[in-house]
Amino acid sequence: MAEYRLVARSHKEDPTVIQLGDQSIGAQELCIIAGPCAVETEEQIFEIAKNISELGIKFIRGGAYKPRTSPYSFQGLKKEGLNLLGKVSREFGLKVVTEVMDTSLLEQVYDYADILQVGSRNMMNYQFLKELGKVNKPVLLKRGMSATIEEWLLAAEYIMLNGNEQIILCERGIRTFDTSLRNTMDIAAISLVKELSHLPVIADPSQGSGKRSMVRPMSLASIAAGADGLMIEVHNQPEEALSDGFQSIYIHQLAELLPHLQKQAELVDRSILLNKRPEIA
Ligand code: PEP
Ligand code: MN
Repeated sequence: MAEYRLVARSHKEDPTVIQLGDQSIGAQELCIIAGPCAVETEEQIFEIAKNISELGIKFIRGGAYKPRTSPYSFQGLKKEGLNLLGKVSREFGLKVVTEVMDTSLLEQVYDYADILQVGSRNMMNYQFLKELGKVNKPVLLKRGMSATIEEWLLAAEYIMLNGNEQIILCERGIRTFDTSLRNTMDIAAISLVKELSHLPVIADPSQGSGKRSMVRPMSLASIAAGADGLMIEVHNQPEEALSDGFQSIYIHQLAELLPHLQKQAELVDRSILLNKRPEIA
């Protein structure tokens, strides 16, 4: 018997659907969350926000506080980054997905985020997970890079047990013996977690592979596996990006990809949540 209870499929007959205004995650339509790894400048985030909203995308991602492996790497624009996310959200009507790195930042990030992202490195920060359980906002819980599926579901259990039922799980690749790619995208985990839990599961093919050319095949594979959405890193100038440029696709690549995501979704009797139908270029 698995240790998790509230997040288990057996606990709840219907799949959990997260409602965000007139948009939902976990229903028939797949959500597409796109944006840069990090908010870098006003010009950068406005350009990306404008472009993705023109494609019909409704959710923007972008880190204001970045958990970087090296303390010498760009750490994010912090409060200024949150302000910029707030601006593009108002200007283009986009919902904001941004990471909250610890309890001390929760109040600040809460005001700007529509979905609070919990990073892979924080999946096992149990005290923090308990705090997120007290919050009335959806939490996007990334899988720890070396977490088993059970540990991941137990992390979600911490949040739910403390009162917050709005949890979206995100598969973002794990560490394995193979170092050919930054991470090994665990596609089967998507299907398995959909079986084990009633929570929506999305996939991050950017972090999941760490390589721009892998984003398209991993996106298509994730939809086939039953993902309820995708979180994709996209940049107007990936070669200039201050973080994760190598795994960020170009805006024109995202535009080309969308109709194929739509076709792939149709194969599993779903569609993608966009403001307009994607056109094949
Ligand atoms: C990110 O989404 O930019 C990120 C830092 O992801 P993860 O926590 O999965 O490494
Ligand atoms: Mn990133």
